[in-house]
Amino acid sequence: MPRTFIRCKTLFNGLDDEVLRDQTLVVGNGLFCFIGPHAQAPQPVLEDEVIDAGDHFVMPGLVDVHTHLVFGNAKSEEDIDLHVSPEFRALRGLFFTQHVLAAGYTSVVVPGDAGQCSIAVRNAINAGMFTGPRIAASSNVIANRQSLNDWFPSWVGTPEYFTGRLCATREEQIAEIRRQAKDGADVIKIAMDGAHFRENSEHIAAFTQDETLAMVSEVHRLGKKVAVHAYGREAVLYAAKAGVDVIFHGFFMDDTCIEAILESGSHVAPTLTMLANNVEFAQDYEASTKSGYAAMQRRVIDIGCRNLRRAHEAGVPFMTGSDSGFAITPYGEWHARELEIMVDWLGFSPAEALRAATSVSAKMMPAAQRAGSISLGLPADFLFINGSPIDDITRLQMRENIRAVYLGGRKVRTQVPGYDPNKVSDFNTVKWSELHTRQRAIEQGKRPAAAAEPILTPRIAHE
Ligand SMILES: [Zn+2]
Repeated sequence: MPRTFIRCKTLFNGLDDEVLRDQTLVVGNGLFCFIGPHAQAPQPVLEDEVIDAGDHFVMPGLVDVHTHLVFGNAKSEEDIDLHVSPEFRALRGLFFTQHVLAAGYTSVVVPGDAGQCSIAVRNAINAGMFTGPRIAASSNVIANRQSLNDWFPSWVGTPEYFTGRLCATREEQIAEIRRQAKDGADVIKIAMDGAHFRENSEHIAAFTQDETLAMVSEVHRLGKKVAVHAYGREAVLYAAKAGVDVIFHGFFMDDTCIEAILESGSHVAPTLTMLANNVEFAQDYEASTKSGYAAMQRRVIDIGCRNLRRAHEAGVPFMTGSDSGFAITPYGEWHARELEIMVDWLGFSPAEALRAATSVSAKMMPAAQRAGSISLGLPADFLFINGSPIDDITRLQMRENIRAVYLGGRKVRTQVPGYDPNKVSDFNTVKWSELHTRQRAIEQGKRPAAAAEPILTPRIAHE
């Protein structure tokens, strides 16, 4: 079996903050079988391939623990759940894996989608039918009445092909977990935030502590991982006490939550990229259509960053996610913005952010698909980067800097086909984004501002 030798001037292994110099990597059978200084490396034989990484920065493939692979860059929840068949969602997701991979992301965790969509994409890739990133797949998001993912009115509910699955009793919650495990989900997602607030404006969690504990224990008993969406303090606390694997967002956590997280060994993936993009790019549009969405997100960022900084200082382990898959976070475009945010807003060093996005985030992957560091015996997923992301973490966001992507020791194609967004998503039937009253027409100068004639008052004739 021929081996591949990679000669590296600068190597970041995903585990240590220090960059190693003049290292040789040897890949055999898709796995790293030697890592060490040139002088100690075995000699290649004639049939082996030798690659010189030159001045490129060599690092492990990146991991995004929050990529909605089958949402199709959706503009609305209706776009995700109503207008597109699950079969099309899966095919579209398979297409977009190419955009994710070309951005240097060799592993993704998919947190929640209908039925078998991401499971089917994962199976097709694992069967060797297509080249794509390693995928931790999921099925429907476990929702409760009025939680996230129970978006639609109670008379609509959560039909089979909606992303959310309403599990309103403990029996339904456990049965749904068992169904998903049987169908091949790697990760079970729970929508922990509720839609209701206390008088002090605190979120009320969608599940009780007991329900959360029962669900998480069942997921772990079946050997799967749990991810939760939790902005609210109570949701974070219940999730942490139950020992979930990753808490998405965690913006309103307090010191009690931080203690619980440290005790249970949960991870936090702030996934601030979507909020940052909302505030930066969607503001003008949203201001004219949806009242105050961007302003609300700005407030959440301010409070969230304060709390997440405290968590980081206290030693909470962080993973990186981007919430890619929405119109504000298209596939392959913004995944690495999360690293810049962790450095600029949360006080991470660039090397620490890189570790979070590689070896730490890889812990969410199923064991057979776990890469994330340049270590003996692990799958050889690695990148050649133009310039050092430790000097400038934003480098990873520019596609031209991702010079080569290797997956299991094989170089993958990073020239990806473009697409017509109107044909892959955005099948909403919304025709107008505002109300065209006469007053609005006057504001637009399409009708005169005031009547030109004075209004005549009727005169009463006297006999
Ligand atoms: Zn999400």
